[in-house]
Amino acid sequence: MTLLGVLALAGGIAAGDCRAPRLSAALSPATVRQGGIVVATLTSDAPLDEARVSVGDDAAGIPMEPVPGGRRWRALVGVDFEGPAGKRALRFEGRVACGEKGTAARALVVRSGKFKVERLRVAPEYVEPPESEKERIESDREKVALVWKSFDPERRWSGPFLLPVDAPVRRESFGSRRVLNGEPRSAHSGLDLAAASGQPVRAPAPARVALAEDLYFSGGTVILDHGERLFTSYFHLSRIDVKVGQILEAGEAFAAVGATGRATGPHLHWSAKIAGARINPLGLLELPKWPLNPTLLNLTSQSQ
Ligand SMILES: [Zn+2]
Repeated sequence: MTLLGVLALAGGIAAGDCRAPRLSAALSPATVRQGGIVVATLTSDAPLDEARVSVGDDAAGIPMEPVPGGRRWRALVGVDFEGPAGKRALRFEGRVACGEKGTAARALVVRSGKFKVERLRVAPEYVEPPESEKERIESDREKVALVWKSFDPERRWSGPFLLPVDAPVRRESFGSRRVLNGEPRSAHSGLDLAAASGQPVRAPAPARVALAEDLYFSGGTVILDHGERLFTSYFHLSRIDVKVGQILEAGEAFAAVGATGRATGPHLHWSAKIAGARINPLGLLELPKWPLNPTLLNLTSQSQ
């Protein structure tokens, strides 16, 4: 049994008195645009050992995090910018230490992101890459796919993120349908910031460096792991000052803005993912204060 399970028993559920917990769920906000972020909260009438929330058909779900006491659990839910608009069901499941489960459901309304079409001109080798680069592009793809799989289970951030560079935000760039040199290409899953070449790029929140290298399309690339499957990515960097595994504080400079890879000119491309959902990173600037959970930190130090 986990320590949380022991705590749950201490909280008043005696063996032989095992019943399903009564759960209620809340979403903040309950209406969100494609690419938005929702804080899901689950409240139980008995301390839970485990809770998760799933969106639509995602059976695995997102593990929720207990607020000390075990009766309230929270999770960030990302709404992928290319996911369908309309009503989506969020399903919650909570399990008490003796094994009984309770469920709850809540409807999330997803509004259209109203994404623009952008027509851009880039060097032709970034629209039709030469045969000689195909192997490298495939290897880049595999490296990035590995990053998403090897996340830190513990949350590092504890409140709103900072803007990573001091520059104007091109709000319309997020989610835009891109036509490169006249050819329709996949939608733009990031946000472009109009920064000048050489400007320092700073960690928007505490993070571990999960990837730091030069990739074909994204040029100088850094991916930061903020824990619990929240990642932010930085493309087209002219210089990278960190190595994989390095831990960054919020506000710490780790790279310089550039125009490497498939870029029309110097700018910072900033993107973010929550449990695989590609979200507008601007939403991270409005996260609630979310203190790190001392119960979980204790659990980790005991298990090491
Ligand atoms: Zn971009």
